Amino acid sequence: MTSRRQFIRIIPLAGATLVAGRTAFAADAPMVDEKDPPAVALGYVSDAAKADKAKFASYAAGQNCGSCQLYQGKADPAGICPLFAGKRVAAKGWCSAFAKKA
Ligand code: SF4
Repeated sequence: MTSRRQFIRIIPLAGATLVAGRTAFAADAPMVDEKDPPAVALGYVSDAAKADKAKFASYAAGQNCGSCQLYQGKADPAGICPLFAGKRVAAKGWCSAFAKKA
């Protein structure tokens, strides 16, 4: 039987393992392919300058994944976006779901 004291010791270790696993996953995740159907539907491009401005009029110069509220990354060239589960997007990329970071 696990005592309360043992339980309290296990929880932080489990949390650290999960965080480490998530970080490794993020770094190893493949990049979103612009030709993937979900990427096409959202107009994702790995270079925001190449956004289809005719099809996605919401695009404005200066918008990119790195400045999007959904982007989960730091100064990395790529980070996780919850819209593309299990894949990374380019920090310089863009899609029509862009939401400016607060
Ligand atoms: Fe990039 Fe934001 Fe679109 Fe995700 S939602 S692909 S971070 S612009």
